[in-house]
Amino acid sequence: MSKKIKVGNIYIGGGERISVQSMTNTDTADYDSTSAQIKQLVNAGCDIVRLAVRDMNDIEICKRYISESTIPLVADIQFDYRLAVASADIGFSKIRFNPGNTSLTGLSEVVSSCKANSCPIRIGINAGSLEKELKSKYGVSPESLTESALKSVNILEKMNFNDIIISVKASDVKLMIDSYKLLASKTDYPLHLGVTESGYGMDGLIKSSIGIGSLLLDGIGDTIRVYLTGDPVLEVKAALSLLNSIGLRNDRAEIVSCPTCARCFYDLEAMVLKCKELLNNCNKKLKIAVMGCVVNGPGEAEDADIGIAGGKEKAVLFSKGKLIETLPVKEAEEKFLNMLSSLIG
Ligand code: SF4
Repeated sequence: MSKKIKVGNIYIGGGERISVQSMTNTDTADYDSTSAQIKQLVNAGCDIVRLAVRDMNDIEICKRYISESTIPLVADIQFDYRLAVASADIGFSKIRFNPGNTSLTGLSEVVSSCKANSCPIRIGINAGSLEKELKSKYGVSPESLTESALKSVNILEKMNFNDIIISVKASDVKLMIDSYKLLASKTDYPLHLGVTESGYGMDGLIKSSIGIGSLLLDGIGDTIRVYLTGDPVLEVKAALSLLNSIGLRNDRAEIVSCPTCARCFYDLEAMVLKCKELLNNCNKKLKIAVMGCVVNGPGEAEDADIGIAGGKEKAVLFSKGKLIETLPVKEAEEKFLNMLSSLIG
């Protein structure tokens, strides 16, 4: 099992609940848009929000975000060690900073500040920005990504710093999976999982689900971010759906619906969309079945809390595989939506 690292008011690793992360894509210096986006992410269920900290102006405004946030905020620093020092000093719950990106003197200042403020460091290795020397030794491979991460770990450990979280991301799903597997076999620091630059919409969702999902099913990974182009709230929704679909969270309603075929005689898609709308902010564990026909529907959704299966003129309502009522389609649809509303409460 991985080590447990405290990040603000939550823990990452050591068998703790897998936390969901995202990152703002507003201008950090723009208070209104960034604070609004942090709130949207929190409302969507995000556990940790990261912000890009680019200069000392950002540091100033971040003090305000930190004092107002109900969840841990993380500073993303690229090269300037002074920003890393300042981020730990103003109370960021974690920083993402690569030790190799600064001099040893700069790094020792970062480490002192992180120690004094109990601020962990995430070492974030990306396949796209590997050191030349490792690239020529192993190419872009699980070996080079892992060695790069462990080199950084080693530098921090030599400074007696162990509050570490690691990521070894790649946009190639197989490379990402193999790299995390190799890394997990060599370290017990908690791992932040993600398929970096996974893309837009469905492409990104599929890549992230395979990469993150398969590792989590193998017991690897402690915190996740579904990297998607677009509104970061979608990242959170996708991450929560992913965790629920593999049984690592139990706080979302699931809609089971059939793909329809020539046996379906009612507008199943419209019904699914209505259910989705009703369930939008529901954080109860529910299973709702919307099936096209009575022949297979109730049987295939046996464990659904409530379900509807359409017919030519009549539809059936069922619960936990048992028939409740057979009604004309329109009436059945109406009653089903009422039943769903009362289940949501
Ligand atoms: S449940 Fe019925 S309508 Fe839906 S795909 Fe199966 S056979 Fe077709």
